[in-house]
Amino acid sequence: MRVGYILLTFTIVFVCMWFFHESTRYKAYYRTSFFSIMVMAALLYTNRVFQFLLEKGVIQSNDVFLTLERMIYYYLIFGIFCAYAFFILCLFDQFQYYPKWKILLFLLPAVIISIMVITSPWTHWIFYVENGVTYKGIFYTFGVLVAMYYGIFGSLHAFRKRKLFPKVFGECVVLVLVLTFIHYINYVITQDEILLSVALLVGIVIYMLALTTVDFYKDTTTNLFNKEAFEQYVKKEIGKGNDKTVYLIKLKNYEYLKENCHEIPLQSTIRELAECIRKYSKLPSIYYLGGGKFTVIVPKHSKFTEEEFLKRLRERFCIPFDVNGASIQLTLFIAIMNLQNGKINRTNFTKYYLACDEMKYRSNDLLEIIHGDNFGIDQLQRYHQVEEAIERALVEHEFKVFYQPIVSTKTKKIVSAEALLRLNDRVLGFISPEEFIPISESNGKIIEISDYVIDSVFRFIKENDLEKLGLDFIEVNLSMIQCMDKKLPDKLKFFLEKYEINPKFVNLEITETATNYDEERLRQQLFDIKKLGFSFSLDDYGTGYSNLVRVLEYPVDMIKLDKSIVWSAFHVQDNYVTMKNLISMFHDVRRKIVAEGVESEEQMQALNELGCDYLQGYYYSKPIVAEDFLRFTARFNA
Ligand code: C2E
Ligand code: CA
Ligand code: CA
Repeated sequence: MRVGYILLTFTIVFVCMWFFHESTRYKAYYRTSFFSIMVMAALLYTNRVFQFLLEKGVIQSNDVFLTLERMIYYYLIFGIFCAYAFFILCLFDQFQYYPKWKILLFLLPAVIISIMVITSPWTHWIFYVENGVTYKGIFYTFGVLVAMYYGIFGSLHAFRKRKLFPKVFGECVVLVLVLTFIHYINYVITQDEILLSVALLVGIVIYMLALTTVDFYKDTTTNLFNKEAFEQYVKKEIGKGNDKTVYLIKLKNYEYLKENCHEIPLQSTIRELAECIRKYSKLPSIYYLGGGKFTVIVPKHSKFTEEEFLKRLRERFCIPFDVNGASIQLTLFIAIMNLQNGKINRTNFTKYYLACDEMKYRSNDLLEIIHGDNFGIDQLQRYHQVEEAIERALVEHEFKVFYQPIVSTKTKKIVSAEALLRLNDRVLGFISPEEFIPISESNGKIIEISDYVIDSVFRFIKENDLEKLGLDFIEVNLSMIQCMDKKLPDKLKFFLEKYEINPKFVNLEITETATNYDEERLRQQLFDIKKLGFSFSLDDYGTGYSNLVRVLEYPVDMIKLDKSIVWSAFHVQDNYVTMKNLISMFHDVRRKIVAEGVESEEQMQALNELGCDYLQGYYYSKPIVAEDFLRFTARFNA
């Protein structure tokens, strides 16, 4: 019976160790500390085998031998509880990053007990052996208490944070803790170790299984909690009524870095940034949501001070970061949201958070800080109002498609037009697409809206003879969300068939901000659509982090220079030269150039000289309703 039990526990521990070792995907402190618990448990069970052999007289022993054996035994049985508490702290709090003195203070009782155990043969503090019999020393109870302290401390902590485990494991963890505690009391009273070691074993198995799933809540780059953990947190905690402050921290240069450097240096930069945030905030609840976005949650009663945190961040960000050997000045956007008791529930928080996330950057400061108190509620209200207006417009068919003429520099005739969406709400009045498009992208309405745009434009093409008017095609804006929509090719095909038009009359404008998306899929999608017969333009060239190589990878026939770079060319001589080179470069690779934002005769002339193929802007016409556009074109081209 005894032998069977020993062999069984032994086997289970080793299998667990092997499993855990093999399933380890990356190094993390909590994993290492958990592994050390398993090693200790394995040693304990080895020790048990040894004891068994001694008892059976298979091994002959003397007092020295026995003392050594007991020393290892006590060392392990006390130490394992300390290791357990340490593991729990690393798992939930990133304790390993706490100041050294805190870690030392935490380990101090364990160190004292270790010294007592090791010196016991001489001092008899914990135990001593005489004539083959082991006696307890005067500080034995102290050892038990210290172990209990670690055990209870770790368990309470795990209990408090159990929500970070998937639900079923959270419950198991609680159960295991309760049972272990009962067995421990039983051990103290009856000295029966068997139940305790079984409980230990069950604990290890449960934790190990939980850990392989807890990875689900950890970000591998930063070892911080990830987006899923944040969503869990929001689901459970927000709205519970405790005051807290939420910081949304975004690395503004993220897109740029993603575009211009490899995965590894980007990751190490993110890791460095995570380290800074963790070190300066000294807080345990930091989440990395991906895309250079962090969230820090500060409970009301914490030692965190905003000034100190921001001051240290600012000091760090004054110094350029080293990214793959290059010095790069990084900048942050920080939105601070104070959530007061009861004022904010989960849905509101999500919207509030999104509104902060959607905020346009307004400055080039190293840290651009926005206080939710000052802007948030207004912004949030507006956000809601616009959402409602979008909803109304979809139901009441209030969206209108306007057309802005595009003129060829060669023929001086209108050869195409860009379809631009207009929303005139009966409550809010005119709402710019710059405002409602991003909102509709964040709440998913963009798909419905764009179906409407595509439908209107295709109908327009069907109802009018473009060729007769001298028009080659109509340009339709596609947002990134649409481009990534799997149904897009089928949808386009559907509308082509519905109106029986030739796809050559449609040019799709895509914007180059796709860095957060799966580029391979995007490219594939674009080629699929191209096969249907549509052509593409690359919109807003010069606003993002446009790069020529990327442009060539996409099947675009035209490049639309953004109005901001067109305008800057007329203010700054250098930019004029840059634009000139840009145009000739694009011509070399057989792309046509459209200049946007042409407002004056002078600009028109200069852009002509620079060799732009097409011009678009208020100089010719603002976007106008379809009937006006038709009349305007007929007159202009006559
Ligand atoms: P965009 O695609 O860059 O569109 C060009 C914008 O520049 C339009 O603003 C147009 O009215 C404006 N514009 C054209 N010429 C001039 C000029 O000479 N001077 C000035 N100051 N502005 C000029 P609009 O219509 O407000 O649209 C803003 C943005 O909203 C568009 O930028 C586009 O990104 C988005 N958008 C508009 N309609 C749609 C749509 O149907 N679908 C999608 N996904 N996005 C759309
Ligand atoms: Ca456009
Ligand atoms: Ca544009």
